[in-house]
Amino acid sequence: MLVSFMSRLSFSLCWLPESRLFLPLVVVVLTVVSLPASWLNQTHLPMLIELPYVLLGLALLLSHLYHQGRNARVALLLLVAYYIIQTRLQAPLTMGTTRLEYVLLGSLLSLNLLYLTLFSELRLWGQKGILYLFFLLLQIGWGALVIDYDKAHDISYLWQGYLFHYEPWSPFPILSLCMIGICTLIAALLALKRHQTGDHAIYIALLVSSFTFVFFSKPLISATLFSLGGLFLLLGLLRCSLDLAFVDALTGIHGRRALESELKHVGRCYTLAMLDVDHFKKFNDTYGHETGDDVLKVVAKLMQETGCGAQAYRYGGEEFTILFRGKTSRECLEALDQLRCAIADYPLYLRNNKNRPEDDEAGRKRRGQNAATKAVHVTISIGVADNQYFDSVDETLKAADKALYGAKKKGRNCVQSAVV
Ligand code: GH3
Ligand code: MG
Ligand code: MG
Repeated sequence: MLVSFMSRLSFSLCWLPESRLFLPLVVVVLTVVSLPASWLNQTHLPMLIELPYVLLGLALLLSHLYHQGRNARVALLLLVAYYIIQTRLQAPLTMGTTRLEYVLLGSLLSLNLLYLTLFSELRLWGQKGILYLFFLLLQIGWGALVIDYDKAHDISYLWQGYLFHYEPWSPFPILSLCMIGICTLIAALLALKRHQTGDHAIYIALLVSSFTFVFFSKPLISATLFSLGGLFLLLGLLRCSLDLAFVDALTGIHGRRALESELKHVGRCYTLAMLDVDHFKKFNDTYGHETGDDVLKVVAKLMQETGCGAQAYRYGGEEFTILFRGKTSRECLEALDQLRCAIADYPLYLRNNKNRPEDDEAGRKRRGQNAATKAVHVTISIGVADNQYFDSVDETLKAADKALYGAKKKGRNCVQSAVV
């Protein structure tokens, strides 16, 4: 039951990337608005102040174990920033060098987080990882020198000039405010475009740190938002591990393990369809394995558009399965035949062909224009069975597989129902 719930959770999180950006934003805004929280009393305070260390420390450890190098660095940066906030920035901003430290930390943190978008998933303790730690130490050293300079010199011209702020809005300088805003926006766009756990973590960190520095005068803002940051990083890692277990890496749809767990709670009426790409070995031999991979992605994408409440899975290799809950095979035949036609009609432009469109949008336009560029096609065969005449899921699946074999024998590119 739990496994099935997890696979569904991973499915919904996987296909709702916008919600993964929007939800944290809403939670952070609501938290900031509700501060200072009336339910917080003196006994909760020490716990809340320690909470970011626990959550971010856990996120750092798990990211390291899952080889999520960027996630780990994000957690590390937030940990260091939170430590500096707690140890150096608890005095009024007008006192000593506090304002300078506050502005330096906010600005450097956002730039460092944005810089992380350039990294791929490197190991924390790899050669480049250690170089990055050295770079961090260098910045802390430079920051200490600047603060020392502030102690000995009058830099008030900076606060009136470049680093002026508008008190009713925020104690954060307008310039730094724009910078942190732009960094967060870039991180959000990258997270939307690339769908990578690391990018999502960077967006979360920028989100919580921007709100922390902008609303710095609110009581407990850093402890609350950095705890939220740690929590979202941990949720991102949970999603990452669910993906590893249930989502097929090539096509992005659910894999066989997800199907098996789903079939344990499939209900009283269901239909299973087995799909197999026709002559795929020959296709690979002719056009190459990479083009073959593209075909599997296209098939998966079109399968997801199948009507009748279809749930698509990659069964293995070039075989796919569709589960229709609460439907008999007769009710699904039309949707399956439409899918078969959609795949057979889909023009595939070949890799390395200099006429191949640069991106999906260009490809779509070209297909629309019926251009004379050579396109190839693939077909699929489908076998379908429902549980009306079969005792178990295994038998229904076997019947669908047998029907698929029948479709192949009939000449391929067709849908065949199971014969009882
Ligand atoms: P049939 O119409 O009878 O299904 O013929 P077929 O050639 O499709 O069937 P066969 O089982 O002989 O070959 C399946 C091929 O699918 C062989 C294998 O190289 C290819 N294949 C399996 N998984 C992948 C994959 O992930 N990527 C690519 N490109 N090819 C794959
Ligand atoms: Mg096969
Ligand atoms: Mg095949």
